[in-house]
Amino acid sequence: MKTVVVTGGAGFIGSAVVRYLINEKNLRVINLDKLTYAGNLDSLVSVEQHENYIFEHGDICDQEKVSKIFSEYQPDIIMHLAAESHVDRSIDGPEDFIQTNIIGTYNLLQCARAYYNSLPEGASFKFHHISTDEVYGDLGDSGAMFTESSSYDPSSPYSASKASSDHLVRAWGRTYNLPIVITNCSNNYGPYHFPEKLIPLVILNALEGKDLPVYGDGSQIRDWLYVEDHARALVEVAMKGQNGATYNIGGHNEMTNLDVVKLICATLDRKVSIKPSGISQFSDLIKFVADRPGHDVRYAIDATKIETDLGWVPQETFETGIEKTIQWYLDNLDWCSRVQSGVYQRERLGA
Ligand code: NAD
Repeated sequence: MKTVVVTGGAGFIGSAVVRYLINEKNLRVINLDKLTYAGNLDSLVSVEQHENYIFEHGDICDQEKVSKIFSEYQPDIIMHLAAESHVDRSIDGPEDFIQTNIIGTYNLLQCARAYYNSLPEGASFKFHHISTDEVYGDLGDSGAMFTESSSYDPSSPYSASKASSDHLVRAWGRTYNLPIVITNCSNNYGPYHFPEKLIPLVILNALEGKDLPVYGDGSQIRDWLYVEDHARALVEVAMKGQNGATYNIGGHNEMTNLDVVKLICATLDRKVSIKPSGISQFSDLIKFVADRPGHDVRYAIDATKIETDLGWVPQETFETGIEKTIQWYLDNLDWCSRVQSGVYQRERLGA
């Protein structure tokens, strides 16, 4: 049985990857996660008792811990998702982003390299680095799409730190022959998304009758991918991706932020009969706020390569995915208040 180390497996996308690997692929999974505010073991209740699942609480910057994980579990694949991931937080305080996204990736690469060099000749190993389309910067109104050969032009401390980590991973592949593969994906949405990101924030604020903040005039365009489609794509790449290659992953769902918020409001209007007082429809709560500094206008992904080479295509449209997502939040309001308060984290860690 193959062993996969997943870093950041208690996060939004990482937990979807862990659930998919355990439930659908029958692999041994080691989840290495620091459990920052964004990591929730609550997202892994469905697999935590599984004999193939092991949780390791630790920091990817901790060289001793990471080396021990490599030597103890002898992984065939590492899927590296651990990161600081929220753009607004990176603007308010970039330091954690430099530490985890750049130094942490560097530490993982060094430990992976030492481990790979210790394996017998011909042994298989792959370092899969999970990254974002934000490294490519802003498409503006050019009408173009990001391809795997688009040049890097990041705008925020978050995207700059992810771009740095991508460069490190590629360099370790070229310089030290470490088998690597990189994926760059568009915006994800779906269950277990921490309620600071646009879609869960809008759903939860709406239910509480709070303002629905929209940056600037809401005309920024993003491509949206349902998180379980992303998890499937990542596992395809980890298993079958070509050594040294990059794959862009996207959902063919370009929408303005304002249209996303309006669609959520319209869906909630249908699903929730009792509205918060003072409004007749949820869109009454939309409030335009000052734009984020350095806010990119448009991202769009050309995902032809992964579709052609690996046969992956998304299963959800934005309409079907958002319906499932909103229903999940309506059914799991308890999860939301627990992760927002940090209660679950403290209980799990025995604090
Ligand atoms: P997330 O913020 O939900 O989860 C990050 C996880 O990493 C958390 O469980 C956290 O506890 C863990 N972590 C943070 N610092 C750590 C450290 N030093 N050591 C060990 N664990 C640590 O992030 P996400 O949205 O699931 O994103 C996962 C990856 O996918 C990131 O690398 C992100 O850049 C990339 N990505 C995200 C999106 C998106 O839309 N969310 C899109 C494309 C790519």
